[in-house]
Amino acid sequence: MDFGYSLSPSSRIDLDLFDRNRFNTLAEIEPDVLKCMACGSCTATCTAGKYAKNSLRSAILYLQNGQDKQALEYLKPCMLCGKCFMVCPRGINTRHLILSILKIYNNAK
Ligand code: SF4
Ligand code: SF4
Repeated sequence: MDFGYSLSPSSRIDLDLFDRNRFNTLAEIEPDVLKCMACGSCTATCTAGKYAKNSLRSAILYLQNGQDKQALEYLKPCMLCGKCFMVCPRGINTRHLILSILKIYNNAK
């Protein structure tokens, strides 16, 4: 029967199913990733985010959960302009962080 709506799939995350080794490697190379407080300032000001699904904030959250594939989807349109670096309240060198993420995770594919 069509009720005009459907239930969304569960968004529950089972951390036992995900491998956080790569995130730990990233944190060793870029300890700043641990300083992120998910404020979203980077996403709100993102140049690419105006035109495509691009969000450093979401990418970091996915990486923390070991959901690498989803994380990379949120960085694909990034142009490495560095604008997010200027607004990050934690002073994270976001551009450098993004480059490290792409290097580590793309090499591991
Ligand atoms: S460096 Fe990438 S994530 Fe940061 S503002 Fe520029 S396009 Fe957006
Ligand atoms: S602006 Fe900085 S602290 Fe805020 S979500 Fe982006 S990277 Fe994290």
